Amino acid sequence: MTSKYELVVWLEVHARIKTKSKLFCSCVNEVFDEEPNSHICPVCSWFPGQLPVLNNEAVKKIVLTWKALDCDINSYSKFDRKSYFYPDLPLWYQISQYDEPVCWAWKLEIYINWENKSFWIHRIHLENDAWKLTHWIGWSEVDLNRSWCPLMEIVTNPDFRNSEEIKVFLQELQKILRAIETSDADMEKWQMRADVNISLRPYWQEKFWTRAEIKNMNSFSAIERAIKFEFKRQSQILDEWWVINQETRWWDDKKWISQSQRSKEEAVDYRYFPEPDIPPLNLSQEFINELIVPELPMQKYDRLQKEYWIKAEDAFIFAEDKHLCEYFEKSAKSSKDVLKTSSWILSELLRFMKEEWITILETKVLPSHISEIVEMIVSWTISWKIAKDIFPEVYQTWISPVEIVEKKWLKQNSDTWAIEEICKKVLESNPQLVADFKWWKERVFWAFVWMSIKESKWQANPQIVNQILKKLLS
Ligand code: ZN
Ligand code: MN
Repeated sequence: MTSKYELVVWLEVHARIKTKSKLFCSCVNEVFDEEPNSHICPVCSWFPGQLPVLNNEAVKKIVLTWKALDCDINSYSKFDRKSYFYPDLPLWYQISQYDEPVCWAWKLEIYINWENKSFWIHRIHLENDAWKLTHWIGWSEVDLNRSWCPLMEIVTNPDFRNSEEIKVFLQELQKILRAIETSDADMEKWQMRADVNISLRPYWQEKFWTRAEIKNMNSFSAIERAIKFEFKRQSQILDEWWVINQETRWWDDKKWISQSQRSKEEAVDYRYFPEPDIPPLNLSQEFINELIVPELPMQKYDRLQKEYWIKAEDAFIFAEDKHLCEYFEKSAKSSKDVLKTSSWILSELLRFMKEEWITILETKVLPSHISEIVEMIVSWTISWKIAKDIFPEVYQTWISPVEIVEKKWLKQNSDTWAIEEICKKVLESNPQLVADFKWWKERVFWAFVWMSIKESKWQANPQIVNQILKKLLS
């Protein structure tokens, strides 16, 4: 869109930390679609006088997250009570971190349309989730299952200029959190949601105007729609020289409009003060060092290209799927042609798997089967076409491709002398092609194979035809 305004967006992402129990009690975390109020205790039901105890696993997971993201670690951090009156907080406060969060600024580099871009994260901190309210006509339902579940809040700088950047950033974040298993980050299951702060500024200006915050967005397409709407709404206000109110807005994804929900409180309104029930966090260097970060998707993407020389697009797909990547690497280790191995997995194997809706862990095709097929193709034992013909059988059974090829042509004509005569005849009647063989080796070779087999009325064993033609042509 052409406009005199530029979009300026920052995000506050809430990701549910993947732990066994909640942040401050031993109730089960990660409940979804379960009987309301089935995982609660006096602590997370906010009974007065109950003492919350910090979950060590949640601390480990957040440490792992900032190690993975290579950000500045605060070995000392503290918890604060954030007070606000809102129906999803029965005690009217949330335990969060204010001036000493667990981590400060880091940069996340991502690829957008194959171009490297970086976005800055301002901070990450730990906090508890609120409860869930479902509103009906005339009454509301309270579910405390989610109450006090561990969240990490990831706040970015105002670095985003369009919704594509937001989408790719959130997807990359999702991939990292999943790779290090600190959050499942499933937006549909409410495990990851973003407060989107949207404002505008004229292109020539550094400072951006007052923002509107749309809370709890949990779909990429809804974020895109909300940004489009807000851009238009705020442009109109600015065009008329009106002032944009700082407020929290609510996105109605049925009507595709945002509506004012409440005026946004300034930080001071939250009356932050140190949380008396939770002692500050003091992390020893030992504790931090002990946590090992597994290979991240972006590192995998770079390594696969360097190690195997595969195409960037292929590396991208493998980097996204841990098990598929393991499968590829196993197959590549025993393969004579890694590029063909990669493309065979991504084109043929995945196509069959998609039809059956199965994952790589469920397939009967072993990684060595793929390298066998590739080996037969590069040694000119079978053509790509024959490989495709036998693949359904490889796919459906546990039988190895070499065995299938042998079995298939076992009953066929293996009379070497007769086949040699046929091959000779084919070569003699095509002198021009024989001359071309010098330049177009593989293509011409397969033409001869095809002509010889045709000449034998489809009786000749292709493997023998192969051997004889190789001998005759050399
Ligand atoms: Zn509890
Ligand atoms: Mn928050």
